[in-house]
Amino acid sequence: MPSGTRYDSMQYNRCGRSGLKLPAVSLGLWHNFGGVDEQSVAREIVWSAFDRGVTHFDLANNYGPPPGSAEENFGNLLAADLGTHRDELIISTKAGYHMWEGPYGDWGSRKYLLASLDQSLERLGLDYVDIFYSHRPDPETPLEETMGAVATAVKQGKALYAGISNYKAAETREAAKLLKEMGCPLLIHQPRYSMFDRWVEEDGLLETLEEVGAGCIPFSPLAQGLLTDRYLNGIPEDSRIAKEHGFLQENQLTEETLERIRSLNALAGERGQSLAQMALAWVLRKSQVTTVLIGASSVEQLDQNLDCLDKLEFSEDEIGTIESVLD
Ligand code: NDP
Repeated sequence: MPSGTRYDSMQYNRCGRSGLKLPAVSLGLWHNFGGVDEQSVAREIVWSAFDRGVTHFDLANNYGPPPGSAEENFGNLLAADLGTHRDELIISTKAGYHMWEGPYGDWGSRKYLLASLDQSLERLGLDYVDIFYSHRPDPETPLEETMGAVATAVKQGKALYAGISNYKAAETREAAKLLKEMGCPLLIHQPRYSMFDRWVEEDGLLETLEEVGAGCIPFSPLAQGLLTDRYLNGIPEDSRIAKEHGFLQENQLTEETLERIRSLNALAGERGQSLAQMALAWVLRKSQVTTVLIGASSVEQLDQNLDCLDKLEFSEDEIGTIESVLD
């Protein structure tokens, strides 16, 4: 049974100029929800999130490992009990990275995207997902074809909304135009964005999203855990860097980066919050950002991260200090 207070403290933000609102913090299932992970912990994290008003869960065809297992596991949670709340959930999936052998299991062809979505629905045990994304632009496939496949998914009722991920500002403008012409407006863009990766600011993506009326859901807002206290005293055995299948590599934890993490951690302490909380508030400071898409390997991390909502504002001095640390 979910908590009766689950909608009392979460903030819901409108996604671009659409009718859909998303929780200020959403949960992604890229790591920690695959076949290699402890399912009782995964279940606890998902339910704890839902109990605190997190209505949005983000997946992709290839999340695991093994690829597909995160969708399968989430499908099991839906079948067990979570699915009775289907109309309270926004579930997304994507296709765009390698999924199966041969020329039709990768990138952005119509053939791949629509077959992959059918496979995702099967694994999830669902008739539809709420958002279907083209996971990355494909330089060898006409954008019309990729966007046409996403629009078809929406027209078939297999997805309610269209999304794109990892598209640059210029590609995004073009994708949004094509989708609009197809009667299927672009709902949302999913880019990487954190204090340690600010390409969306340099590229003008945020302004483009505002212009086309789409929302923004930044992924890896904690730089996969670097922007937390996780690595302040070495590399814990159960951390993403230490895990064989983790995408975060030890060589990303340079002395220069550690120095920045220490300074940011000190500033977060002065603000009365953890570094993770400050890093999330920093991404949410941008008006174009609808929701931050976090990962968590424990309920404690999830709870701590959700508490970022207690202090979102920054003084000019604090922003200045952060800029000087990141410089
Ligand atoms: P984050 O940057 O939020 O990193 C999450 C990881 O940071 C956790 O798994 C945990 O790692 C660590 N962590 C989280 N909270 C804390 C805390 N409070 N204290 C200490 N450590 C903490 O996001 P992800 O990189 O996981 O990405 C989030 C989601 O974004 C994905 O699940 C996926 O849905 C999406 N995504 C989309 C991509 C795309 O191309 N569209 C690409 C990548 C992600 P640890 O295991 O060490 O505990």
